[in-house]
Amino acid sequence: MFEALLLDLSGVLYDGDAVIPGALEAVRRVQGSPLEVRFITNTSQKTRQRLLAHLSGLGFEVAPDQLFTAVDAARQWLRQRQLRPWCLVHKDIAGEFADFDSHDPNAVFVADAAEGFTYRSLNRAFQLCMAGAPLLGVGYNRYFKSGDELLMDVGAFLRAIEFAAGVQATIVGKPNAEFFHQVLATTGAAPGRTLMVGDDVFGDVEGALNAGIGACLVRTGKYRAGDEGKVGGEFSVVDSVAEAVDLAFGRTRAAAFFST
Ligand SMILES: [Mg+2]
Repeated sequence: MFEALLLDLSGVLYDGDAVIPGALEAVRRVQGSPLEVRFITNTSQKTRQRLLAHLSGLGFEVAPDQLFTAVDAARQWLRQRQLRPWCLVHKDIAGEFADFDSHDPNAVFVADAAEGFTYRSLNRAFQLCMAGAPLLGVGYNRYFKSGDELLMDVGAFLRAIEFAAGVQATIVGKPNAEFFHQVLATTGAAPGRTLMVGDDVFGDVEGALNAGIGACLVRTGKYRAGDEGKVGGEFSVVDSVAEAVDLAFGRTRAAAFFST
């Protein structure tokens, strides 16, 4: 029996503006249960406030202290080290970093900047890294799904900066085990009694497994047939979050434990 459930947002609860069938009911069931639930996302195109408003607008009840974002983790990381970041981020979240001193930057933070990824901006990040600034990234997310479209995520751009500058980024979001453990610390549950549910076999599933957390891949969102074969380890694969919640409650046995 699990004590805590970690739910990814995009691709698990919704696709763009459409709720994934069964997701509202699934979240309602866990919110009314003894299971500790946390929502954990690398999404970096919306501020925390807008993410909460988006969830609420779709009908999900999520308390602010149940939501953990990679952008929050980045803010905390930069704050602890008293750095002056240059942020290559989406214009809609630039305000989240307005309280940092941006004069003479000595750190680079890269999130999903979308149209903000230009030669000019990538080159600026490269130059700062060459001058010794640490490189911080939300994650190596390859792509995400919005509505019917697959869209390139931050990963390839982060890799480009790493490649050019010969540096390695510090990842603050999924799949960083520290991020999972920070979230888990707020639940009191042990990693082995926690289930992470996501549609990204690398960031969500492999990341959770490396953090000692149980993982469940859903066949919604960005999931593509054959994804379960791309990482090693044992995890379950289910059709949607509704089934994942049944699994967390121990009401069903894992329909498909995949192992390589
Ligand atoms: Mg997702």
